[in-house]
Amino acid sequence: MGYVDEVLESLKKKNASEPEFLQAAEEVLDSLRPVVEANEAVYRREAILERITEPDRQIKFRVPWVDDKGQVQVNIGYRVQFNNAIGPYKGGIRLHPSVNIGIIKFLGFEQIFKNSLTSLPIGGGKGGSDFDPKGKSDREIMAFCQSFISELYKYIGADTDVPAGDIGTGAREIGYMFGMYKKLHGTYEGVLTGKGLSYGGSLARTEATGYGLLYITEELFKAHGQSLSGKTIAVSGAGNVAIYATQKAQQLGAKVVTCSDSTGWIYDPEGIDVELLREVKEVKRARLTEYAAARKSAEYHEKKNGEHGVWSIKCDIALPCATQNELDLEDAKQLVANGVTAVCEGANMPTTIDATKYLQDNNVWFIGGKAANAGGVATSALEMSQNSERLSWSFEEVDSKLQQIMVNIFHNIDDAAKRYGCEGNYVAGANIAGFEKVVNAMLAQGVC
Ligand code: NDP
Repeated sequence: MGYVDEVLESLKKKNASEPEFLQAAEEVLDSLRPVVEANEAVYRREAILERITEPDRQIKFRVPWVDDKGQVQVNIGYRVQFNNAIGPYKGGIRLHPSVNIGIIKFLGFEQIFKNSLTSLPIGGGKGGSDFDPKGKSDREIMAFCQSFISELYKYIGADTDVPAGDIGTGAREIGYMFGMYKKLHGTYEGVLTGKGLSYGGSLARTEATGYGLLYITEELFKAHGQSLSGKTIAVSGAGNVAIYATQKAQQLGAKVVTCSDSTGWIYDPEGIDVELLREVKEVKRARLTEYAAARKSAEYHEKKNGEHGVWSIKCDIALPCATQNELDLEDAKQLVANGVTAVCEGANMPTTIDATKYLQDNNVWFIGGKAANAGGVATSALEMSQNSERLSWSFEEVDSKLQQIMVNIFHNIDDAAKRYGCEGNYVAGANIAGFEKVVNAMLAQGVC
């Protein structure tokens, strides 16, 4: 049995109850085969694959808080500090009832490679809680965030581990966490990113993941002698990534005709009205039925199990921007039957492994989330730089750095795929390019 298969076997035994982590590990390790085979003796001796798949540490803690009725509630908090070979741990905090250690581990593992791809000095980590922010009052959100950080603050810091937002954690939650950290730790430091602009946040961070997704998609099309102008795009999600992906796509001359949330989806053949979508989701925090009620051209569809939702709509480009495993094999078949040219992932691992393979086998250009959504964490790292030098850069300066980073990521993953004989396989290219940099740092730093 080869080294990759041995490690995968052992991971399956040790992590049987963590399917999302196993899925992420299998996807990465499988695509690393060419680089592992070329360096097998050294990697085996140094146990590189065993070390890179085992987090530096996992922190699990109780988060007690008092709800508006005076009832004490208890959630579980997690922080997985996966790998800091190239910089302080960096990765978001997910607040969602589905959160468990396997999901945080999968996200932290992917973050190692994504952060490496940005070319900035940041290691991989992720955190979260099974707390559900939906329907909670502002006071309840603050109570939860303060309790969460009053335990986590012991393990994070500007040079140690710098958490950020993710599903359920936006500027409001980061503000409450930052305030409590400052009080407990007594320092004013860049310990969290995604902060408000008046206290150390970066311009363009809000837009960064969605904009970055479009910058890399545009570069992909350029590399194939095409542009985004006039293309029809299906986007899923209606949160931070989806909204700003839609906005940038429209600025680049494409038409986005769908969006979705956890209860339903919209088909708007005249193109999504992004300002209306922002009003409904960012300001009112309401359901998409409100979007449909305010816009004549929009059709609202209730989400039903077994239906393709936004992926049933004919499009040139599909941008999954909601959540993991939201685009499965049946969806992929539907997209291919409808003539899709490219799928680029705004969310983390939204496409199942068999769907990815089907798309690639059918010559669909496919860029996975590690590369395609790296604009968010890259801009978080730019926020860290601004905090360190105590300066704020203009929107244009941050945006142009982001654009350059995404263009570079595309060429790095394209080159890595070519170097290892899998031209056009941007998933393998991203995993290889991200992995090589981290492994070189691990080898240079010895067994630790
Ligand atoms: P948000 O919480 O802002 O938005 C998520 C959106 O997806 C919401 O509209 C939500 O609906 C919707 N959604 C959730 N589950 C489903 C589902 N099963 N079907 C359809 N829609 C669903 O999160 P973000 O936009 O920040 O994150 C989206 C994805 O992008 C995640 O995978 C995240 O890890 C990833 N990502 C985010 C980055 C960032 O900077 N924000 C950076 C890199 C990756 P509802 O409104 O009903 O909750």
